[in-house]
Amino acid sequence: MLFFQPKSYIVYSFEYFLGLCEKGPRSTFDCAKFRKIRNALLKEKIVHSKEILEPAPASWDDFLLVHSPEYVEKLKDPQLLGKILFLDYVSPFDTDIIEFFMWVTGGTILAMKTAYEKQVPVFNLGGGYHHAKPGKGEGFCPVNDIAIGIRRFQQEFGKKRVLVVDLDYHQGNGTALMFQDDDSCFTYSIHRDNWDTIDSKTNLDVRLPDHSDDKMYLQGLKNSLPEVMDSFQPELVVYVAGGDPHYQDTLGTFELTDKGMLERDIFVMSQAKERKCPVAILAGGGYGQESWKLYYRFIKCVMRGRCDV
Ligand SMILES: [Zn+2]
Repeated sequence: MLFFQPKSYIVYSFEYFLGLCEKGPRSTFDCAKFRKIRNALLKEKIVHSKEILEPAPASWDDFLLVHSPEYVEKLKDPQLLGKILFLDYVSPFDTDIIEFFMWVTGGTILAMKTAYEKQVPVFNLGGGYHHAKPGKGEGFCPVNDIAIGIRRFQQEFGKKRVLVVDLDYHQGNGTALMFQDDDSCFTYSIHRDNWDTIDSKTNLDVRLPDHSDDKMYLQGLKNSLPEVMDSFQPELVVYVAGGDPHYQDTLGTFELTDKGMLERDIFVMSQAKERKCPVAILAGGGYGQESWKLYYRFIKCVMRGRCDV
């Protein structure tokens, strides 16, 4: 008999950590970020070990669901992959990097499936590689785990309506391209476009200027998301909860506080909850040594059912 009934789940594998840290990615990305979150959640007894699900890695065939065969061939060459990720040197025999992305994408697939089956929030401690396009990787995103996860989800459960709420500081340009001709998926993104050109549009882009604060950001969100939810009526929400709109982020130029970030996250969750729609949450971006705390606080708040900043 099961006495323990989880309210939400975490998806994590130790493989998330191993593949990347040894390579020293050239960015301010804290490669230990997700392990820190997992450790803090266990240490503070916010998460029970039974609430941590271990994914299986995604396969090359999974990548082919959304990426071109020519591009997937390129990903099989570690040195070409290293170039996409701006790494200084990668051995031709080194498969660690693509394996990292296979594990995290497997986590995204598992998060969507579990959220839908159990109708509870499921957090992948990673994922949200929204810049990867069908035939090209960019911005540290070689594969689009969001699109792959949605395709796998729709293969298993039928062509359900999926809403991607992308609140990473950067635009979800790759995801937008993946679904531009597909009415079963609605892409929504709030961002500051700091790319030279905007090469794709999501179904609803909310663009905000530099130095946007809690008030401006939350106003943008609250003025648009409920309407999207009402008209599209998603059967699954995929929330990319990027930490880079925070004022301390080392890449972003927004000025959201800890409180504003948490209010943003809880607003998305409550909109879905009101409509009885399950949510799979992906980490998205978030840079600097303190960034892990944002996703940690969000998970803590959902797991405990109360929030404190
Ligand atoms: Zn970002």
